[in-house]
Amino acid sequence: MTFNELNLIEPILEALSEKGYTTPTPIQAEAIPIVLKGHDLLGCAQTGTGKTAAFSIPIIQHLHENKISGGTNGIKALVLTPTRELAIQIDESFAAYGHLTKLKHTVIFGGVGQKPQTDILRRGVDVLIATPGRLLDLINQGYIKLNKIEYFVLDEADRMLDMGFIHDIKRLIPLLPKKRQTLFFSATMPPEIEKLANTLLINPRKVEVTPTSSTVDKIDQHLYYVEKNDKTELLINLLRNPEMESILVFTRTKHRADRVARTLNSAKVKAEAIHGNKSQNARQRALNNFKDRTTRVLIATDIAARGIDIDHLTHVINYELPEVPETYVHRIGRTGRAGRAGVAFSFCDADEVPMLKDIERLINKRIPILGDKRFDTSTIKSAVTNKKDAIKEEAKRRSSFKSKRAEGRPSEGRFNEGRSNEGRSSNGRSEDKRRGETSQSKPFKKKPSNTKKPNYKINN
Ligand code: AMP
Repeated sequence: MTFNELNLIEPILEALSEKGYTTPTPIQAEAIPIVLKGHDLLGCAQTGTGKTAAFSIPIIQHLHENKISGGTNGIKALVLTPTRELAIQIDESFAAYGHLTKLKHTVIFGGVGQKPQTDILRRGVDVLIATPGRLLDLINQGYIKLNKIEYFVLDEADRMLDMGFIHDIKRLIPLLPKKRQTLFFSATMPPEIEKLANTLLINPRKVEVTPTSSTVDKIDQHLYYVEKNDKTELLINLLRNPEMESILVFTRTKHRADRVARTLNSAKVKAEAIHGNKSQNARQRALNNFKDRTTRVLIATDIAARGIDIDHLTHVINYELPEVPETYVHRIGRTGRAGRAGVAFSFCDADEVPMLKDIERLINKRIPILGDKRFDTSTIKSAVTNKKDAIKEEAKRRSSFKSKRAEGRPSEGRFNEGRSNEGRSSNGRSEDKRRGETSQSKPFKKKPSNTKKPNYKINN
């Protein structure tokens, strides 16, 4: 199928051909006709599938056909998205696909001064792309009215929930006109998101694309078992490969992201870190430098990298494995975008083996191992066993506590009423670990300190 078969107007077709896009991605092929017909849409898709064009193209077309452009009649389309980076990228998509129409659009987000944003709003826009906090703020100050909205897009709904925006969204919904077209996108559908979708959508058409495993299958994945302290050396060695042109490196913590960036720069590898402690301007500058290839390596935490859309990203490196296995899929999904092949390397140290097991269970395959084994992998089994034993042990302690309480005996230690789950996520991991702090117990044999370090070969 080509874009020509989707009944798109000439200015959009021309803009698409300027971008070099001829074939719609699966979500575009399915969603564009549905939205053009005026139906509500429930899209199950993650970043990288081409979903931005899937909603922005039909909105541009409708506004253009109905001669609603120039921003004189109030805001007609609102796109709500969780992060500033995503908001900017969506605004760039409206610019790319709509620049041959008279459509006016702008983007607002927090963390920067509001004056430039309110100046543009005052002159009038047709499409507003916003993050929830700044949107509510400017509504409360009287700069924005939502009473003329005809198209409402809720993007990355599950991430909105993760990032604590759900209450902001619930406050915004009553401000929208009842008669509107709603497009709702989420990569996953936890019950709370399903409930929200039900309250927002009327008789929606559902489009679901690329279940995670097939996205992952297109990416060439490799694993290095490596000691924690040897990870930077391995990274520098890998980066000697000139075929690695544009590399996104993930760490679990902001602190580590900064440290890795510093070490790479002192090794003469141009690298920058982005994370939540950096100002919006610094983050955007780092992102732009990476996009225009001034910086070869971008080091990011998961939150900062959410939704980052960079064309032709050649490699993703998991310097540290994520605690939540689904995050691995999101991370490596940054390479191999819109059908291109990508490469992902993951570094796994002894403490991370349980995370690796969770990831391999989720993607339903073993990640092929590269390089020398930097720690004794025969201890993996005992690590997993140790973890299981620890969980069993805790369950035993809890049930013994419950029975003591039932017998009316005083509470013991940390298992006080209402606190039994404190610091522990639903999958049994401690919150400290989720924040990236290292585990206290080290069931692994460390390699002797006098072991000669082998050289890593780049096998890709
Ligand atoms: P998205 O999922 O909207 O973030 O898009 C992911 C990436 O795919 C972006 O870099 C888009 O510019 C690119 N893209 C979107 N649609 C197409 C297409 N039909 N052909 C090629 N690339 C596309």
